[in-house]
Amino acid sequence: MVRKDRLKSTFMELLRINSPVRGEAALASYVSSILKDMGLSILVDSANRKTGGDTGNLIANLSGDEGLSPIMLNAHLDTVEPTKNIVLDIEGDIIRTDGNSILGADDKSGIACILEILRVIIENNLPHPPVDVVFTVSEEIGLLGAKNMDYSMIKAKVGYTLDACSPFEVIVGAPYQNSITVEVRGKESHAGCEPSKGINAIKVASNAIAKITTGQIDRETTANIGVIKGGTATNIIPGYVEVKGEVRSYDEKKLERKTREIEGKFEGSCKLFQIEIDGNIFAPTVRYEVEREYNAFKIDKRDELVKRVFDVASSLNMKILTRLGGGGSDANIFNEKGIRTVIMGAGMKNIHTKSEYINLEDMVACVQLLIGVISSWR
Ligand SMILES: [Zn+2]
Repeated sequence: MVRKDRLKSTFMELLRINSPVRGEAALASYVSSILKDMGLSILVDSANRKTGGDTGNLIANLSGDEGLSPIMLNAHLDTVEPTKNIVLDIEGDIIRTDGNSILGADDKSGIACILEILRVIIENNLPHPPVDVVFTVSEEIGLLGAKNMDYSMIKAKVGYTLDACSPFEVIVGAPYQNSITVEVRGKESHAGCEPSKGINAIKVASNAIAKITTGQIDRETTANIGVIKGGTATNIIPGYVEVKGEVRSYDEKKLERKTREIEGKFEGSCKLFQIEIDGNIFAPTVRYEVEREYNAFKIDKRDELVKRVFDVASSLNMKILTRLGGGGSDANIFNEKGIRTVIMGAGMKNIHTKSEYINLEDMVACVQLLIGVISSWR
């Protein structure tokens, strides 16, 4: 039923259309013309008013058995860069680039799989519920498309996000994430002429960072300091530095505790670096901003969404397992908005690097699993 040659050529067409964050319109219009030809109704929301992109989210509906509860299939249109002037290197079932750009299988493999799933269902007249196909924009910059989606356009209350690596794993959970921005203000001064009249903001920040435990904090929690920016010249004591980091956890209390702990280290460091100039006390200051990127979700392994995949896998003699994810995806936002969603893999490997590649066989497995799920949906 699944036509691997067609899946491959669709996928390669998608790879050739550049779709960076905020520049997804060309890909959206190509995909929507395919969906229209298949007979789906198409809607585009106005999420781009918030994302600043050239198109909103693409939401298409395949009508189906109204007696069955609708189901959502989701992937994202945007890719990380560079992807312009892509040159593909194909060896049997393995597709990669020549090494000069990112492949963009994240998440064009998900899109290609969804298109093949719909084609097979339609041409074989397989029983199916109404299917909401949701292709989001600006996923890679903080799930902005999903966050700003017009949810009145989606009927489904359950769904599958195709945005992971192995097709043989169902990702049933993802953590909370806080993003942290810290601005440290010291006091600028000439490093050679007035070395004792400055407060070095880089040193204040470094002192704090050195005391923050990062990496795997406990089984459920991770933390990272990822960006540090500051200073203007070697002869100037830097008066300002910006530090960005994040905390993730499956436990909201641990998430907040670690977030506060990081803040405390910066405040503690400020106290250490205060100085006296001409009888006046100068102390560095810190501005701490925390943004909740997304909330965690956990789907029970006995949930119909998971059980159905396992049933289909066993009928296809495939071995699969469930796993908790370590990152955020559109699924976090869908779950928050009341669409119970798990994440499936469409085969992408080494994502966000120029060595990204995919094995077509993995895409075929993903398509087979989801055709089985949708055509047996009750
Ligand atoms: Zn992705």
